[in-house]
Amino acid sequence: MNIKDIKAREILDSRGNPTIEVEMILANNITAVASVPSGASTGSKEALELRDNDQNRYMGKGVLKAVQNVNTVIRNALIGQKIDQVLVDKTLLKLDGTANKSNLGANAMLAVSLASLKCLAKLQNKELYEYITYGKVSLPIPMVNIINGGVHADNNLDIQEFMIVPIMKGEASRIQAASEIFHTLKGILKEKGYSTGVGDEGGFAPNISKTKEALDLIMDAINKANYHPGKDILIALDCAASTLYDQNKNMYKIDNTYLNANDLIKYYIDLVRNYPIISIEDPFHENDLESLAVLTKLIGDKIMLVGDDYFCTNSHLLEAGINVNAGNAILLKANQIGTISEMTKTIITAKKNNYKTIISHRSGETEDTFIADLAVGFGIPFIKTGSVCRGERIAKYNRLMKIEECLKK
Ligand code: PGA
Ligand code: ZN
Repeated sequence: MNIKDIKAREILDSRGNPTIEVEMILANNITAVASVPSGASTGSKEALELRDNDQNRYMGKGVLKAVQNVNTVIRNALIGQKIDQVLVDKTLLKLDGTANKSNLGANAMLAVSLASLKCLAKLQNKELYEYITYGKVSLPIPMVNIINGGVHADNNLDIQEFMIVPIMKGEASRIQAASEIFHTLKGILKEKGYSTGVGDEGGFAPNISKTKEALDLIMDAINKANYHPGKDILIALDCAASTLYDQNKNMYKIDNTYLNANDLIKYYIDLVRNYPIISIEDPFHENDLESLAVLTKLIGDKIMLVGDDYFCTNSHLLEAGINVNAGNAILLKANQIGTISEMTKTIITAKKNNYKTIISHRSGETEDTFIADLAVGFGIPFIKTGSVCRGERIAKYNRLMKIEECLKK
């Protein structure tokens, strides 16, 4: 089956910033639409998200250049070609010709790569997760972001994401628990006179400044909602520590104190001792593999130490971490790398080396639910897709519950 047409357009993401949507049409008129998300605390080694930088439109954030790249160069190269994921991605990589996708833009490339994957699934009359089945399908455990800080909120909390991780059986039960705890937390915040407005990923953004205060509020909410911290609900953190790092001082600012890497290690160990934490993401700045390796040696047998900005979904960066035993898990964001084939390679590298995998949304999302299907199809054990609030996050949870229902049939 050949590709008949490809059309890109500018749409808005959940923050109201432009992003790209691509529609691919096959010769038999099968059509698939895909859109790409956008990050705010991006790793410096991520593939390039092409923006127009035309200050007269959307504060420079327009993506008309990326749209144009799809509608001209990419379209011309792919039209009439056989639809095949490896071929499509190879063509995209060849057309771009750069290591960081700075020519066509990773946003343009991923939208096409994803639209192709969706077309292939439809062509075989399969759900997306069924089509990409790689090994054993499984429903991921959600890491549900309920308190936002860092660059995702305007409060004084330094850690970017405080997540609850419901580990009971069944996706619908896990999502239900998360929702009940979320609403209980809302009540607690209200009672204490804190704002219940939410941040970019739908978690609350109360005006508190201490990490332990946020963790205590979460523990209260778990207990009050009649769940059991440490038993059925665990906690995960994304420190996004590149944003806490002061290069001049070579220190991290956390809880109004400057800590060096050694003190920060002690800080994390203390948190893990006092709270049921199963995962810490980006605990140090993105170039400090050494401290990550030390922390992994100290507590890597107890919890996941996740590389997001460290590895940028890039198999080479992941290998660099594996070589020095830094971290034991990787966050996967397709737009950090640009094509589905490259992301698949990273997943395979992680699995081969016993690194746990977590698929992730971005803070700027669209209503596209592809990460839910990718999580199930690739048998990825965890998913980060924000809070149980905000339509673009809920779309993924609803998709997971629907897939669970399909898998039971
Ligand atoms: P981003 O943040 O999507 O804003 O980059 C998410 C994360 O750091 O995990
Ligand atoms: Zn992160």
